[in-house]
Amino acid sequence: MRVDMISARRRALLRGMGALPFAAALPALARAPRLAEAPLDSARFAGLVRALPGRVLLPEMPAHLSFVQTWNLHLRDARPQAAAVVRAQNARDVQTAVRWAVANGVPLVARSGGHSYAGYSSTTGLVIDVSSMTALAYDARSRRVRAGGGVRNAHLFATLPTVGRTLTHGRCLDVGAAGLVLGGGVGFNMRRLGLTCDQLTATEMVLPDGRLVPVSATQNPDLWWAVRGAGGGNFGIHTSFTFRTFDAPPLTAFKLVWDQQLDQVLPAMLRTLHQAPRALGVKLSIESAPRTGRLSMVLLGQFVGTPAKLAQVLAPVDAIAPPNMGENGSHVTPCDYWSGQQLLADRGEPEFMVERSRYLIEPPNEGMAAAVLQHLRKAPVTGAGLRWKGFLTGGAVQDVAPHQTAFVHRRDWLLTSIETNWLATDPSAQVASALDWTDAFYAAMADWTSGESYQNFIDDREPRWARAYHGGNLERLVAIKRQVDPNNVFNFRQSIPLTVPAS
Ligand SMILES: Cc1cc2nc3c(=O)[nH]c(=O)nc-3n(C[C@H](O)[C@H](O)[C@H](O)COP(=O)(O)OP(=O)(O)OC[C@H]3O[C@@H](n4cnc5c(N)ncnc54)[C@H](O)[C@@H]3O)c2cc1C
Repeated sequence: MRVDMISARRRALLRGMGALPFAAALPALARAPRLAEAPLDSARFAGLVRALPGRVLLPEMPAHLSFVQTWNLHLRDARPQAAAVVRAQNARDVQTAVRWAVANGVPLVARSGGHSYAGYSSTTGLVIDVSSMTALAYDARSRRVRAGGGVRNAHLFATLPTVGRTLTHGRCLDVGAAGLVLGGGVGFNMRRLGLTCDQLTATEMVLPDGRLVPVSATQNPDLWWAVRGAGGGNFGIHTSFTFRTFDAPPLTAFKLVWDQQLDQVLPAMLRTLHQAPRALGVKLSIESAPRTGRLSMVLLGQFVGTPAKLAQVLAPVDAIAPPNMGENGSHVTPCDYWSGQQLLADRGEPEFMVERSRYLIEPPNEGMAAAVLQHLRKAPVTGAGLRWKGFLTGGAVQDVAPHQTAFVHRRDWLLTSIETNWLATDPSAQVASALDWTDAFYAAMADWTSGESYQNFIDDREPRWARAYHGGNLERLVAIKRQVDPNNVFNFRQSIPLTVPAS
């Protein structure tokens, strides 16, 4: 394996990225939306406008669209565009908005980074948007950081380097910390440090009756259990999160690409990852390239150790075929922690996409690797490509028992998913065939996966979603839901129900 030092040009580029300001507004689609459900009449919101002057966006205001559209482009026509948006500046605004919506029978939904795959931070009624609440305060004595409910990965990337600390964050800059932590939070640090939700020490939230309550190991313990894995949009609106932080060590960031001998390389890679040390955090993907359908395997991630030690870990794969270190963005870069994160970061721009996930408990076997490649070789070609992915979990994620928090997927070693992307210009028959292929591949994965899915890769095509997301924790979550939100104020198509579903 060749070790490339980060180029001077790339360094300059990364330095220039500095605080990485996030996109202020998502681009509007040129064509008018054909919405599945019409928004409520905005005249109903006059009382709210009076209660929260300057905070309410109505459809005639240009900024409104940015907070009612889904990140996932293919759902922009399918999800409603709220009649009104409250841009909450503090917890009191959230309380006022919740109380007003409940008193007036208006459906409401919380929105932070707006990156729900299935577009669930949308409603016909009122979006309570907390994305302005971006305060971040680090306490050097406790080594904890307190984040407002609207903090995104980009804000963590800008602030944590100044105090030399880190936690388990994502790599897509515009994703909200709220959605991330409330559904678990997977990232390259999770095998060393645990999930983002494992690092939460306290949170504050506004309940359906408008009360602002502290939630921690000693305050509201049922909610404390529930919100660490099943919090997004289910019980209330979180206005702050406090996290423990960790040293940010030097590491080796890398992207490795294999485009030959995949039939031999993939099984070796899976065996290697299954045995990997906690210092390794990776996403493996086998990609079917846009338009050509050519397959390649990409290993992207970080290793807390030197390139030489990383090479030792990956030696069994290297022995079969070394990665192609050509003009494909490959690199192996020893660097300080935050330069590494800049190399791994992605903006996470809106896309046309479907992603379907399943966890893997069983050790890897040749049949599974062969089946993955067989499905990918039959993949229809789209303008934006398709891929099978494996996020290496295990390690510190397994140090917490499945029933200790609401996040149940603790015994698995790989979070697998099929991600299908396309372009607006792809013919609809091509898109339909890509979606059929996705569903057939997903069904075939049942032979080698656990039947559980990651709730943050929320998937409106999964019929058994409640059990898939929450496993054996579902019954307790339903009981807590009935206690905290008996009138189902916080609901969306895949929210925690008031009764346990039959299947
Ligand atoms: C480009 C991209 C990259 C991603 N990368 C990762 C990754 O590396 N690791 C990972 O684990 N996941 C990742 N995800 C999945 C991501 O964690 C989820 O989509 C998450 O729900 C997004 O949170 P958000 O705040 O941006 O989204 P939103 O759409 O604002 O919210 C998601 C859900 O949480 C609810 N919610 C939002 N704010 C609050 C609040 N303050 N209180 C209560 N409920 C709230 C919403 O109502 C909605 O149901 C990624 C998603 C995308 C689109």
